[in-house]
Amino acid sequence: MKQIVIISGKGGTGKTVLTASFAALATNKVMVDCDVDAADLHLLLQPEIKERHEFRSGVTAMIDKELCQECGECISVCRFDAISENFIVDPISCEGCTICSYVCPAGAITLEENISGEWFISDTKYGPLVHAKLGIAEENSGKLVSVVRQKAKEIAEKENLDYVIIDGPPGIGCPVIASLSNVDLAMIVTEPTLSGIHDMERVAKVSKHFGIPTKVVINKFDINPENSEDIKRICQKEDIEVLAHLPFSQRVSESIVQGIPLVEFCNDRIVEDISLLWERIR
Ligand code: SF4
Ligand code: SF4
Repeated sequence: MKQIVIISGKGGTGKTVLTASFAALATNKVMVDCDVDAADLHLLLQPEIKERHEFRSGVTAMIDKELCQECGECISVCRFDAISENFIVDPISCEGCTICSYVCPAGAITLEENISGEWFISDTKYGPLVHAKLGIAEENSGKLVSVVRQKAKEIAEKENLDYVIIDGPPGIGCPVIASLSNVDLAMIVTEPTLSGIHDMERVAKVSKHFGIPTKVVINKFDINPENSEDIKRICQKEDIEVLAHLPFSQRVSESIVQGIPLVEFCNDRIVEDISLLWERIR
């Protein structure tokens, strides 16, 4: 079983469009959406949720008014001003540092686990999809990425699948690092804009730092051929293979609006190029 992550360093480069197309082209695979802060692969794969699980992470202080002696110790030690004058914890401000529970002389403070989001196992016409939804303003997306990846790996092993195809999150932070761990290939989708080049370089550094085989796809290469040449030069210097150059196509946004993977939506040249790209990855 091989694990392939599609990353970009920034949002909007066409990462999810490619992942959904690979989902339609590949046989015997499980898909994972690791962009848990702003999941969107489900919009193209139209999943039917089979299992729904709570994601718990971090703690919030709770004060038992019956036990509280109103001494004010907790208010004075809370560095986040999370406890009001009438001894109520504001769950948004509470960082779960736990210090208030140590100083409370009455044992009135407990720490409750937060429900920070949900993760799902779904059926799609292309195979199983493991995906998640982090709650608004919740943290620990890296931990949730690890949860969905582990679940997808278990499904792949149990069902003897050949591939785990991972739609990675944007950026270079904790969720990206969690998406990269132990993969067989990181495919960076970039576009020929200055920010696209900059973010490709950043995420390539992260990927190479972890010793992961890293390749690049230049999406919409024809919107700025000069910048596309720059990307090729950078990749050559960094010893990163450019796997494909995909042309701009108006059909991409139309397929997203229709909620259909691009390779099933039209027969334009880009579809041929994506099919060849998948063959190369295989
Ligand atoms: S857990 Fe920390 S942040 Fe939350 S109320 Fe207690 S002292 Fe404040
Ligand atoms: S430290 Fe404990 S007893 Fe004192 S005000 Fe806070 S919750 Fe009440």
